[in-house]
Amino acid sequence: MIFIETRGNDGQHAVEAPFSHAILNPLSSFGGLYSPQQLPQLSEAMLTSLLDASYKDLAKAVLELFQVDVEPAVIDRAMALYDRFDDTDHPVPVVRVREDLYVSELYHGPTRAFKDMALQPFGVVLSALAQLRGEQYLILAATSGDTGPAALETFKNRDNIRVACLYPDGGTSDVQRLQMVTEDADNLRVIGIQGNFDDAQNALKTLLSSSAFKAKLKEQGVSLSAANSVNFGRIIFQIIYHVHSYLELLRQDAIKLGERIYLNVPSGNFGNALGGYYAWKMGLPVEKIIISSNHNNVLTDFINSGRYDLNKRELVATTSPAMDILISSNIERILFDLFGSERTHELMQQLNQDRCYQLSEQEHARIQEFFVADYCSDEEGKQYIKQAFADGYLMDPHTATCFKSHETCRKKPLKDVIYSTAEWTKFSPVIDNALTGQVDTHDIDALKSIAETAGIEIPSMIHELFDKPIVHKSVIDKADIEKEILVFLDQ
Ligand SMILES: *Cc1c(COP(=O)(O)O)cnc(C)c1O
Repeated sequence: MIFIETRGNDGQHAVEAPFSHAILNPLSSFGGLYSPQQLPQLSEAMLTSLLDASYKDLAKAVLELFQVDVEPAVIDRAMALYDRFDDTDHPVPVVRVREDLYVSELYHGPTRAFKDMALQPFGVVLSALAQLRGEQYLILAATSGDTGPAALETFKNRDNIRVACLYPDGGTSDVQRLQMVTEDADNLRVIGIQGNFDDAQNALKTLLSSSAFKAKLKEQGVSLSAANSVNFGRIIFQIIYHVHSYLELLRQDAIKLGERIYLNVPSGNFGNALGGYYAWKMGLPVEKIIISSNHNNVLTDFINSGRYDLNKRELVATTSPAMDILISSNIERILFDLFGSERTHELMQQLNQDRCYQLSEQEHARIQEFFVADYCSDEEGKQYIKQAFADGYLMDPHTATCFKSHETCRKKPLKDVIYSTAEWTKFSPVIDNALTGQVDTHDIDALKSIAETAGIEIPSMIHELFDKPIVHKSVIDKADIEKEILVFLDQ
């Protein structure tokens, strides 16, 4: 599989890159992204032959289709990480909640959010590639909550990789913060920033583009890399579970082979939805991909109007914070796949300059062949959480946004697979408020209240967090981040 650049080539970057290069150097010319030149095909015969396959074997079959240049032994080690999920034989349960409504639960990994689906195997692959090349990498991450814990968990104690993770002090839930600051390994440094997520993110961007900082790293023999969701090494693992969800509906006799289904995705940076789009283009029978958003509904407007417009928009803090995003990076790969690199370059330049771009009528029609979209307010989300609980299903506020679009976007009576991206334990105060009306300031109170209301246990990996020693104590000013990271690398 060859990867090419979404914004064309500037003479400084590889024109064609293998998978390993695309993983280690995700950024390409003009700020574009490496994307597959051509997608492999998934035939009906192949789907049939995969009906009896385990999740791991399905994953290996998909990776084989992409002909990734990673040794089979490394892939095997990466796949073994799905053994850390609740049920090693069924890492991703697909649950029928209602007539035609199925939930594919992507959160049964070690950090209880769907980021584990891709980051768990990705950590093994990245570390193996770095070892093979005899290179040391520093991964910088800025997190508002879910990416940080998942990145730390996958990279801890891995050779040739160090991780510095920035989070806004006071800007994450208790559980998310504890998942980070209790993570004890020599190759990890977690740093609280006095400020909000934007401050952390901007500090990170400044460092990533600073040639002085890179020069200092080079002196120490360290290269920079990123584990954010534009990295194709994450996207590839997000194609697999869409195929898996389809196979599960077949196994449960909910559909016949060839029958189309809806994929319903709570979206932020569009990695999850992009995985579904690729699976569809590879041959999975899909009717439409439903894109669900919260009040930050730039994607809803884009899909419904063909206009991506950041003007007069400000990021609003919602109860589904992992979707509080205005610049949804992986949309670029959709534009590239449908309209080519020249047009993508043009549109991305317009977005940079005018904070806005408008697709032609024809282009907009192409987008609507694949996607429909709606958004859900926090208040509506709470009602859906309450209603689903009354029907016997406990879900988190990100997943809840899809319960609305299930009602508003599904035009045909086909099965709808909603992707559940977080366990209830990660956003417990919102859920407790929806279920009992209580207002909790601390996660531990909300967790206990929900557990009692629902008659379930708090999972041990969440409960134990509250008793673990805090390893990472620094909370610093933005101006001191670079110094803090260089000290960490020196140790
Ligand atoms: C990251 C995340 C999302 C958004 O996923 P994208 O692939 O960025 O669109 C949704 N829900 C939760 C809980 C997440 O952690």
